[in-house]
Order: sequence, then C-alpha cells, then structure tokens
Amino acid sequence: MMSENNSNIAGKVVVITGASSGLGEATARRLSAEGATVVLGARRVDRIQALADELNGGGGKALAIPTDVTHANQVKRLVDTAVQTYGRIDVMLNNAGLMPHSPLERLKIDDWNRTIDVNIKGVLYGIAAALPYMKQQKAGHIINVSSVAGHKVRPGSAVYAATKTAVLVISEGLRQEVKPYNIRTTVLSPGAVATELPNSITEPDIAENVRKLYEMAIPADSFARAVAFAMSQPDDVDINEILFRPTNQEL
Ligand code: NDP
Repeated sequence: MMSENNSNIAGKVVVITGASSGLGEATARRLSAEGATVVLGARRVDRIQALADELNGGGGKALAIPTDVTHANQVKRLVDTAVQTYGRIDVMLNNAGLMPHSPLERLKIDDWNRTIDVNIKGVLYGIAAALPYMKQQKAGHIINVSSVAGHKVRPGSAVYAATKTAVLVISEGLRQEVKPYNIRTTVLSPGAVATELPNSITEPDIAENVRKLYEMAIPADSFARAVAFAMSQPDDVDINEILFRPTNQEL
C-alpha cells in the first residue's frame, strides 16, 4: 500500500491572478482546502486580503499581493514574492480577464485595449514571471484560461474571442517549447459560469442580453474542479486542454 499523499495538490505553491472574485476565488478556496499554498493576485486588495485571512484562519496557507496584470513588473513581483516566501512555484494560473462585449461598430476602443492588455498581455506577463523559476526547477505547471469564445466567435464578441483564441495559440506554442523543462501546460475553456464577468460589459443593452444568457450559468467550483483535475494527474500526465459548458448551453 502506498502511504504518500497522491493528490498532487497538497503542498503545491499555486499563484492565481484574478483571485478576487469568480473563478480565481473559487479555485483558491478549493485548492487551499486540498492543502495547496495559494498566492493571490488582483487589484481589489481588500477582497484578496479578506480571502487570504479567511483561508489562513481555517488552517490554510495564503498570501495576498496587490497585482495589476497589465504591468509586467507587478506580475513579476507577485511571482517573485511567492518564491521568496514559499521557496518555489508549482502552478501559475493566468486567470485574470474581462469580457466587455459590444459590436465593433460601436467603436469601444478603450474596451478593446483593456481586453487585449489584460486577456493577452496579462497572460504573457504571467508566463514571463513564472517560466524562469520553472525552468530552473525542471518542474511546474502553467494553466491559462481561454473560453468557449476561444473556439467560437459571435456578433458582439469579436475582440474578446480574439483574445481567447490568442490564449489557445499561446498555450499550444508554450506546450511545445517547454518540453525540455518538464513543465506541464493546460488551457481551460469554460462556457457560462456564474461570476462577476458580465459586470465588465460597458454597454447596458449588451449587458442585459448577456445576463439573460448567463441565467444557465453553472457555479464557479465547476472550474475549480477542472483545475484540480489537471493538477492532480501524475507528473508524467499533461492535461493540455479542457473545454466544458453548462449541460444546457447551446453555443
Ligand atoms: P470575474 O469578473 O468574477 O473575475 C475576473 C478577475 O480578473 C477578478 O478577480 C479581477 O480582479 C481580475 N482582473 C481584471 N482585470 C485585472 C487586472 N488588470 N489585473 C489583475 N486582475 C484583474 O470573472 P471570471 O472569474 O469569470 O473570470 C476569470 C477568467 O475566466 C477570465 O479570464 C474570463 O475571461 C474567463 N472565463 C470566464 C467565463 C465565465 O462564464 N465566467 C467563461 C469563459 C472564460 P480585480 O478587478 O480585483 O483586479
């Protein structure tokens, strides 16, 4: 009989961007409950600090670090602090994102720029921050968050879908490049999951439509379980892609 802990989650140091709500928060809770150390990054410091306090109070290990993922130096500081505090980084979850849907003809150029800065550049900055440590460790796991929108574009979602398609492509390129370093890569593509994401829509009529669509949304722990599944495989098994939806989601 094997006596070691085989969950492959307990004891891991996991850095999560966008940990202040939704999928990031749910994942922090689940992984902490399963014994991981979680390092939480987001701009809403009060939220991540309260979450860290709660997890630490419950016997977990958590650290909150104010992070805006549109600044490479802040993402580097997030990861550097994780390594300085806990000695290593096992998982980088590049989760921060926004979804300000609108038809292109409305020319919401500020929304386009923010979406590209957070959803694409933020992911790249996360890779840049984690990769040097993981190369040195000859171990690690980079998990990026795409979307069903990375597989399908619809009117109103062109820019968001473009960023999520970019995340798929970056993840596949990364997967091939990091083979020599024993690093695992996963890209997760959720369908509608109940989070604060629709709040990032700046056009009221579009926001209302999306909120109606999101009535079918499933709980954020569905995403956290997918992360736990990918992490918990034996080290020689690399779960590269997971696409999941609410059972009654058509798109
Ligand atoms: P939420 O709006 O609930 O969470 C988004 C998170 O991203 C927040 O923690 C927010 O933190 C963070 N964030 C936004 N901008 C920045 C920034 N500049 N720097 C750091 N953090 C930032 O939505 P979700 O949990 O749903 O979103 C998480 C990811 O999941 C996103 O990438 C989204 O595209 C993806 N996704 C979600 C789906 C869904 O249906 N919910 C479906 C498919 C994909 P703060 O504002 O405090 O900085």
